[in-house]
Amino acid sequence: MIPTAFRYRRAGSVAEALALLREGGPGAKLLAGGHSLIPMMKQRLAEPELLIDIGGLLELCGVHAVGDAIEVGATTTHADLAASALLRERAPILAEAAAEIGDAQVRNRGTIGGSLAHADPGADLPAVLIALDAAISITGADGSRTVPAADFFRDILTVDLEDGEILTDVSFRPVRSAAYAKLPQRASRFALAGVAVALEMEDGVCRAARVAVTGAASHAQRLPAVESALVGARLPEGAAAACEGAGDALDFVNADLHGSEEYRRAMVAVMARRAVESAAARG
Ligand SMILES: Cc1cc2nc3c(=O)[nH]c(=O)nc-3n(C[C@H](O)[C@H](O)[C@H](O)COP(=O)(O)OP(=O)(O)OC[C@H]3O[C@@H](n4cnc5c(N)ncnc54)[C@H](O)[C@@H]3O)c2cc1C
Repeated sequence: MIPTAFRYRRAGSVAEALALLREGGPGAKLLAGGHSLIPMMKQRLAEPELLIDIGGLLELCGVHAVGDAIEVGATTTHADLAASALLRERAPILAEAAAEIGDAQVRNRGTIGGSLAHADPGADLPAVLIALDAAISITGADGSRTVPAADFFRDILTVDLEDGEILTDVSFRPVRSAAYAKLPQRASRFALAGVAVALEMEDGVCRAARVAVTGAASHAQRLPAVESALVGARLPEGAAAACEGAGDALDFVNADLHGSEEYRRAMVAVMARRAVESAAARG
């Protein structure tokens, strides 16, 4: 289908994008890679009057070490994440998850900021950033604020982002003992069930764990029962027992032609076990 008519402006800076958002009011929308927004416009599920293109904003692009944290700009593409030597060495979970998104075209255009702001229930990166305990930075007319990734995702396609705000970057302390496992939908590669795990290990025993699920429910979220079950467990031997009921802990589980509720609950447990085993193998 053809989208409704809209105006297009390319922002030259974050300040200009904010000014354009203010000028456009509720009819204005940011455009990054366009791989979620344009399909929605074609289906007329979104009908923005003004598109503000931030895809080319270099000030929001790149993966950088900042002190003992890693900072990733919002317009960094999935392909850039996958190719980042810094991530591959210090936080491989993010590079590996990005490498599994969609196909080459999606990875070359889609951005981390767009993925987080859009919050598709099957998106991979929200779970990974929750497991990494990332902080999401947002800027708007009234200044800047930071939200923990675990609090950012609220419901289906719903996040803690107001009209007129821009997600600028994410930052996190790098964790090597972390991994992501997903059951992909075969055509799109979106997660039917995906689990991200970050562990603190000492002599083969898990001392702390952050576990997040995507794909199975309305939005990415932590799995506190699995986190508790992992603490004190010897890994990988104890992974299966700790993850056994992972899918049962979710209040609401998606069901569609790709998988029933029962199947998705079962697959959450399988993906959790695989992610824990891979994370533990990194020691
Ligand atoms: C065929 C196909 C397969 C895909 N497979 C997968 C997959 O396997 N896994 C996966 O995770 N994703 C997948 N995706 C989604 C893909 O990763 C998208 O690129 C991503 O979800 C959105 O990023 P974008 O940069 O394209 O955002 P856009 O489409 O440009 O924007 C999406 C939304 O976010 C808003 N937005 C964008 N940037 C910002 C910002 N910095 N601040 C505030 N709001 C912003 C826009 O206004 C819009 O509402 C797939 C997409 C397609 C088309």
